[in-house]
Amino acid sequence: MRLRDTSEVEFLRGVRQLLGEAGGRVRLGIGDDAAVIDCPPGRSLVLTCDASVEGRHFRREWLSPHEIGERAVRCALSDLAAMGAEPAAILLTLIISPDEDAALAQGLIEGGAQAAETFGARLAGGETVGREGPLELDVVATGFVEPGRELTRSGACPGDVVMVSGTLGDSAAGLAALTGTWDAVAGSAGTLAGSGGSRRRSWDRAHPCAHAVEAVIARYKRPEPRLALGQLLGRSDAVHAAIDISDGLARDAGHLAEQSGVAIVLHTETIPLSTECRTLAEHLGLDPLPWALTGGEDFELLFCVRSDAAPAIARLAHDSLGLPLTTIGEVTEGHGVCVMHPDGTDLPLRQGGWDQFRST
Ligand SMILES: [Mg+2]
Repeated sequence: MRLRDTSEVEFLRGVRQLLGEAGGRVRLGIGDDAAVIDCPPGRSLVLTCDASVEGRHFRREWLSPHEIGERAVRCALSDLAAMGAEPAAILLTLIISPDEDAALAQGLIEGGAQAAETFGARLAGGETVGREGPLELDVVATGFVEPGRELTRSGACPGDVVMVSGTLGDSAAGLAALTGTWDAVAGSAGTLAGSGGSRRRSWDRAHPCAHAVEAVIARYKRPEPRLALGQLLGRSDAVHAAIDISDGLARDAGHLAEQSGVAIVLHTETIPLSTECRTLAEHLGLDPLPWALTGGEDFELLFCVRSDAAPAIARLAHDSLGLPLTTIGEVTEGHGVCVMHPDGTDLPLRQGGWDQFRST
């Protein structure tokens, strides 16, 4: 049934059924004019918003409605992770054509609710706006942090080391696989043998790279907000600044450097790449580094930490979360980001990552 053929009351009844009773920190959820959240004593409220726009952040041929909703909420939660916050409630606004099927809207909401629950939050409300044009999901994520324990971008000091969680570049490689444009980010022409044209999106399982392709596409589809790591880092006085990698390592390091009034030096040989990312790049004859440096949407945490505390933090993240942390650079006096090769040359960073206003 198309949305225009269903009444708003009917639609909302369906959403309420879908989401069930309020719970967690949400005392009053969908059904009233606003949601009510129980704020734990002595905690500050953390708020962020994030938009997922069809054609810009996703395409419907890549993701099911459920996956689109899930991804939008996971991306928004990553900003809470970067602040060291514990998630509480999600608000989701859908901007959707009235000609769309009601099942699409339901799938988006279901996916959003599931992502919220996966990370200990609740979908507490939202809005549906009927409008022609691309599908859009606007997510507000709220969480709590102990006052003074929030991570910010502004505390990095010269002498700190720069660390990053997980691996970088997988999401950009996944996006390249989905679009069939391996060279869009990597900057040189590459094609996977026997995968031309429309077949680029349906990998032959027998292909030696099929597993790697599936793995990087999964990283694009279901980003992992590093919430537990953010909270772990927030408890340490040695962690001075943090950001999540949404625009690409180079650009996000630039945000940290600028907000902290320091320079950041990154070393290319230390940037952590997954086996899948390396395998694909090798097979295609591409350098995987641009995927990691400028690709974006890895949603790993990049942070600056007192150098003597770095090994203990890496051990703690490994032992308690099973998450590898890698030291990839250091903070110095000055400004900007410098990406160094092992031979001492530096990489020009004219296209330092995703820029909302400059990228097309
Ligand atoms: Mg962010």
